[in-house]
Amino acid sequence: MARTADRVRRLSAARRRILALALGAAMAWTGAMFARADSTDVASVRLDALSSRFLAGGVVLTLELSSPAPFTFFTLDAPRRLVIDYASSTGEGPDELPDLAPPLGEPRFGLFRPDRARVVVPLAQPMQVSRAAARAGAAGIEITLVPVPPDVFAARAGWPAGARWEDAASPRDPVLPGDARLVVAIDPGHGGIDPGAMSDGVMEKDVVLAFAQRLARHLEASGGVRAVLTRERDIFLPLGERVRIAQRAGAHVFISLHADIVIEGEAAGVSVYTLAPEASDAAAAELAERENRADVLAGAEAAGVEDDVARVLIELAQRGSMAEAERLAKATLAMLRSEVELLRSRPHRRADFRVLKAPGIPSILIELGFLTSPVDRARIVTPGWQEMAAGGVARGVLDWAGETAPAWRAPRTAQRP
Ligand SMILES: [Zn+2]
Repeated sequence: MARTADRVRRLSAARRRILALALGAAMAWTGAMFARADSTDVASVRLDALSSRFLAGGVVLTLELSSPAPFTFFTLDAPRRLVIDYASSTGEGPDELPDLAPPLGEPRFGLFRPDRARVVVPLAQPMQVSRAAARAGAAGIEITLVPVPPDVFAARAGWPAGARWEDAASPRDPVLPGDARLVVAIDPGHGGIDPGAMSDGVMEKDVVLAFAQRLARHLEASGGVRAVLTRERDIFLPLGERVRIAQRAGAHVFISLHADIVIEGEAAGVSVYTLAPEASDAAAAELAERENRADVLAGAEAAGVEDDVARVLIELAQRGSMAEAERLAKATLAMLRSEVELLRSRPHRRADFRVLKAPGIPSILIELGFLTSPVDRARIVTPGWQEMAAGGVARGVLDWAGETAPAWRAPRTAQRP
């Protein structure tokens, strides 16, 4: 790292000015490259490898792709990131990516939208793209980054047209008509470019998707529930969109599924979270902060996502959904307790989770365990354990629905958010 900092510092001011001028030319043609995507068959484009090397005061980043694909790139500030999008409907790639040359940080990749995959590379120093081109003689993309002053970086960072998640042309879910069944929205956290927590080859996004499918089967087996998954495959979804899917489905209940890690110390077992302005403890606050950051890490934060916490909480309290969420959490934990091991101290915790703020829909977030615990990691991927835990959650939901006020069970008209 220190060596790179030296290289960067050695660049003279004159050289930086020349590089900054070169950027203008580079940026001018970025948009056009993706515009050619539409006519190409790029459905199965896969990321084969990602590598980097130093070159003339800068760094060259190489994406090897299974076949040529139109691409675009841009940088975002706070935190500084390089984002490379290429046409792909699978987002597939290697199990692990290698470390890149500093100041390039730990890269992540995956499906960002149904029509494009994304690679996000954190930048420890302000750098700008001086050259970007399809690889010569092989499928892929080669991008050269050079250091620039922070003010130049800040001025050039930003979204090109059409690159936001909201710009996807694919149709949104239809608004479903209400029926007599209890509608349960199940939200497998993370997905696509956002893997969530990772430890020893286990990825949170995979575990929670498998669990969500089991939970849906358990709930629907009761005959009185329609389960709606916010995502059914390995694809990215912004936090706000998860809530909107529940609203469009006319959900009575929202259950977000996650698996945590601990930075230090040991922890194991299942825990259930409800929304509160003040976290019940420091660990819960840190967890909410990690989960709320998912959109930023995926290069997807939308304008105006900062909700007015006080207003949202008052609305939820008035509609009674916070009180119902508390009852739902207690009922779920009561049923889970007889099936699986719970977090030993206080398995019901509270924090300010962005995904738990659907007005009028009692919402809970279940952490299935800690991927940093070898015991949890082993059982969380075991079908038998998943069956028991999913059965426990389903019985908790049904118990809550049977006990609670008829208003929550009545057919609900889907909301157009
Ligand atoms: Zn998570």
